[in-house]
Amino acid sequence: MQLLFPRRCPICDRIVTPAGEKICLECLKKIRPIAAPWCMICGKGLAEAGELCEACRRGRMHAFRRARALYDYPSVAHSIYRFKYEGRREYKDFYGEEMAKYLGDYVRGTGAEGLIPVPLHPRRLRRRGYNQAKELAEVMGRELGLPVFDKILFRVKYTAPLKEQNYKERQNNLKKAFLVRQNDVKLKTIILIDDIFTTGTTVDEAAAALIEGGIPNVYVLTLAGGMEG
Ligand SMILES: [Zn+2]
Ligand SMILES: [Zn+2]
Repeated sequence: MQLLFPRRCPICDRIVTPAGEKICLECLKKIRPIAAPWCMICGKGLAEAGELCEACRRGRMHAFRRARALYDYPSVAHSIYRFKYEGRREYKDFYGEEMAKYLGDYVRGTGAEGLIPVPLHPRRLRRRGYNQAKELAEVMGRELGLPVFDKILFRVKYTAPLKEQNYKERQNNLKKAFLVRQNDVKLKTIILIDDIFTTGTTVDEAAAALIEGGIPNVYVLTLAGGMEG
């Protein structure tokens, strides 16, 4: 398999060197994990020592309890674009394993019973072929020994790509976008998995639906997120 379908590097998109690795050793230096300190609520990297980012200090409310992100978004922005829109599904292995490795302690600390990927609308899923959040959740679940529940939360409203909307439009369009169809397993604490945390609007709406659906403790983990300053 390695010879027929050599793995591409998530950063430079060329065939990985040395072979057998999931990322080029050179490219590994180009991605930046969000380093301490980060906001204790939304996980945003802080410009100076402190507990909360400016938005959370000012009282920005979130439906989720806490969020963490692995990478500083600009350092992986192109890569995430290819991962989502250009069929580079294979990036999931490197990214899912790194999320498990660096944020496994956070996941265990929440006492989560499982992972729930932020779902795509069925129409978008058909077009894209896979849900990048579910791909990440499956690799993480395997690494951390946690089940992935992808039949609980559904996206019931088709929305335009978020990048084409401003903040207010996003908030309005995401209203009632998610729905819990069943919580037979009676989950109490879960981790919501997504690729990017920007304003948090998407995960907040998804978390609100989960809470309404009977899962009171929703934590968030994303591949990439923002930094202050
Ligand atoms: Zn590379
Ligand atoms: Zn914050």
